[in-house]
Amino acid sequence: MPAKKRSYFSAMVGLRCPRCRRGKLFTSANPFNFKKITDMPHSCPVCGQDYSIEPGFYFGATYVSYALNVAWLVPLFILMRFVLGLEYKYYVITMFVLLPILIPLISRISRAFWLSFFVKFDPQTLEIEDQLKVDH
Ligand SMILES: [Zn+2]
Repeated sequence: MPAKKRSYFSAMVGLRCPRCRRGKLFTSANPFNFKKITDMPHSCPVCGQDYSIEPGFYFGATYVSYALNVAWLVPLFILMRFVLGLEYKYYVITMFVLLPILIPLISRISRAFWLSFFVKFDPQTLEIEDQLKVDH
């Protein structure tokens, strides 16, 4: 019986390996563990995909992080300023409350998104895992 296949989006948001969509990208499941926020295993524990493709690889994820932050900050500003008619100070207060909560999450999703640009999904990794389950 074939294993259930994750979608590209659910694998990315679920912080899974883009190749097999099963292996975890980060060593700590808690994104608010600030000492381990970006700690990743060297390779995928399921399919063996190398997570550190080249030195400084995840520098590019900062561009994704920037775009994701703009994608929620600008609509928030438009909503608060022009729809609700609130003063700027409420936007600044809301931003400073939400940023510490969202930055760890967006940082990790950015890395998953960046890695998925360069590593394509390989359906054969699901078959290999199914065979391993049958054998054991
Ligand atoms: Zn994998």
